[in-house]
Amino acid sequence: MTRQEKRNQKDLTKLERQRELQKYRSAAAGPKAERPPRSRLDTRTEDWDEMDPVVSERKHKGPAPITLVATATEEGLVTGIGPGVCRVYGKGVVSICRSMPGLAVGDRVRFELRCVREILPRRTTLSRPDPRNPKAKRVLAANVDIVVNVVSVSSPPLRPGLIDRYLAAIQRGGAKPLLCVNKIDLVQDPRELEVLNIYRDLGVPVVLCSAATGAGIPELIGALAGLTCVFTGHSGVGKSSVLNAICPSLALATREVGTVDKRGKHTTTSSSLHILANETKLIDTPGIRQFGLWEIGVDELRGYFQEFGAFALRCTYADCTHMGEPGCQVQEAARRGDIAPARLASYLRIRETLLE
Ligand code: GDP
Ligand code: ZN
Repeated sequence: MTRQEKRNQKDLTKLERQRELQKYRSAAAGPKAERPPRSRLDTRTEDWDEMDPVVSERKHKGPAPITLVATATEEGLVTGIGPGVCRVYGKGVVSICRSMPGLAVGDRVRFELRCVREILPRRTTLSRPDPRNPKAKRVLAANVDIVVNVVSVSSPPLRPGLIDRYLAAIQRGGAKPLLCVNKIDLVQDPRELEVLNIYRDLGVPVVLCSAATGAGIPELIGALAGLTCVFTGHSGVGKSSVLNAICPSLALATREVGTVDKRGKHTTTSSSLHILANETKLIDTPGIRQFGLWEIGVDELRGYFQEFGAFALRCTYADCTHMGEPGCQVQEAARRGDIAPARLASYLRIRETLLE
């Protein structure tokens, strides 16, 4: 055997020994543990350890000694919620904290040792029934000044019925509405926009815009400046695109209408709050197809169609439901066009769903 051959032989044996050692080590370690699925908020255990000194102490040094630690509660703003955890922003720092039931993005909370202890009283809310459990309430956002209802003029087409549902829910929760009409670059005939006059007449601010061309975006930024605003809308109306147009660094994922994203890159699946440089707070919510109404009674509903009020006073029956009672002045006003017939139709449809 030449010198070179001897050296090769030696290398091969070394390699084989290394492989064997590797095999032995993996067998001793047992089957590979599966990694837990990651949530939108990255809640990997490593992160918890890193961020929570109490947890990492216990893990690395056995049971923690019992010590009395004086902890001060801090106040913060909930900017995101994941399974069992939430992001809380306070004193310029974002912490991941253990959550508590019923928490919503926009909530002001007291927390200590990275655990939320208390939800502070809410100024306003935007709520709807939980899609997975219609008997439970889901607060989409708390403490908002303005609910921006994003709609599009086409693809998907304008749905005044959905706007009316939102308007009722917004009034129920105490915030102010703003109608953001996106995709105006697709308007073929200005008459398509006439329906919006109903809402202007009701005093609802209407901003026409196009996330694609940038038209109307400065006006929208001006209307929201310094306020806490939650963006809602039917999937595909361009809500994420509008938010990106307002603040490009948000870089929210957008998608083609009707496409299923195969890469698992999602458009919004849970609410999240973003704080802009001018202190405007924008809350993004999941796109929805149906907007259920929560805790609204049929009598209360009448009050949310404020333009009926003056006519309702003259209905024959004081408790007129405006569903067709003789002498109903609301029905009469809709026939004359003093009330938009579409609004009366919405009221009747919503009323029916509330009674179901
Ligand atoms: P979201 O589901 O409401 O968040 O909607 P996306 O922002 O994901 O947008 C849905 C689709 O509408 C995408 O294909 C966007 O490119 C498109 N889109 C958004 N804004 C506009 C707009 O102003 N004009 C046009 N023509 N298309 C838009
Ligand atoms: Zn009536």
